[in-house]
Amino acid sequence: MPIWPPTNSNFCCSRIPNNNPPPDLVQTVANSEKKLPLLFRIVEETVKKTIPHSVIFEVTRRCNLDCVMCYVVGHDSAHPDELSLQEIKGILAQLAEAGALRLNLSGGEPFSRPDFLEIVEHARSLAFNIDITTNGTLIGPATVRRLKELAVWRVSVSLLGATAKTHDSITQRPGSFSRALNALKLLNEQGIKARIKTLVMKQNFGEYREIMALSRELDIPYSFDPTVSSRNDGSLDTLEMNLTDDQFKELVRDPTLGPGTLSLDSKELEGSRQERLAGHMCKAGVSFCDISWNGNVLPCMQYPEIAGNLRKDSFETIWRDAPLFVKLRNARKRDAPECKECELLPLCFRCPATAAIEKGDAFSAYESACRTARLMDEVRRSRVSGADTQRDDSQEGPS
Ligand code: SF4
Ligand code: SF4
Repeated sequence: MPIWPPTNSNFCCSRIPNNNPPPDLVQTVANSEKKLPLLFRIVEETVKKTIPHSVIFEVTRRCNLDCVMCYVVGHDSAHPDELSLQEIKGILAQLAEAGALRLNLSGGEPFSRPDFLEIVEHARSLAFNIDITTNGTLIGPATVRRLKELAVWRVSVSLLGATAKTHDSITQRPGSFSRALNALKLLNEQGIKARIKTLVMKQNFGEYREIMALSRELDIPYSFDPTVSSRNDGSLDTLEMNLTDDQFKELVRDPTLGPGTLSLDSKELEGSRQERLAGHMCKAGVSFCDISWNGNVLPCMQYPEIAGNLRKDSFETIWRDAPLFVKLRNARKRDAPECKECELLPLCFRCPATAAIEKGDAFSAYESACRTARLMDEVRRSRVSGADTQRDDSQEGPS
């Protein structure tokens, strides 16, 4: 399914584990009165029990491409502080012990580590459900066969254009488009669940429809994320690449993108508002977290603050006691003073990490979230008034 409405990251709060939940958790869920699908109930339970059901592990910051909007600064070379294979194995054991179910392995470019398949093998031996995020350029037939043997759940490949010209100009590496496309085809041939991941920005906006067509042609689902993040050194130059107001609204309105999520019903919006106010800011630090290439533990990969480092403390200690995690777990949306009364709240995808970067306060309103919510509201209003004739909710996008 397309990532829609926009989130700041494809890793936000929407991950569902699908393997080997801890037995006591299954029991608790089985006893629950609720009639939600089992996996949703498991996730709900992990939130209540603050179990890190999903972890993003950035196993390296190295990358063989040089994407213009990349948030990882210094990705062109290995760093002496990079975790060794033995250290990674030790961390994976701690994550399994903590109840983590789902592991997203990313980077940098994870396949730029010569020992990456050993990491995957070890993670599978601990029964993690594995999702890999890659630029696809280092994946050949032998690698794909090994991923198949290891029963990796999904591989997401970044595609930043529907043509080599656009994609390669964003990655700044000629040939990267054809290699990414080849990886997607190889994955599909082996029956590995693949996904096209596209950050939609000014540079490739003109090709998003062609990417959807490519997705249909390859029979591989796509996900669009229309939010370019700041870099991890705090610089904001990348934000210039975000869609213009008109482009953003055109994307939101596109009837071929999938079922609309913009509610027209004011009662529904009010219900959603009350629910949101009582909810966590997001699930970062509540039921998932990020581990970076040097052992730092963060609420998520966008977050500009570190909760601890695994070379100094155990995962359990950091997850349970780090003041940053405790603060995030205790925070609710209603604690953001400007947002509490804001009528756009149900349409807003405010992100604590971006708030911390843009405003220096994870719990405050910030300009880019308010802008996105305003644009979503303009589209919603034009639909309510009937002025927007472009949208047709009867059409569905690919799943
Ligand atoms: S639109 Fe702005 S003020 Fe309103 S909820 Fe979102 S971040 Fe807060
Ligand atoms: S802090 Fe922002 S980017 Fe990170 S998980 Fe929360 S909403 Fe997503």
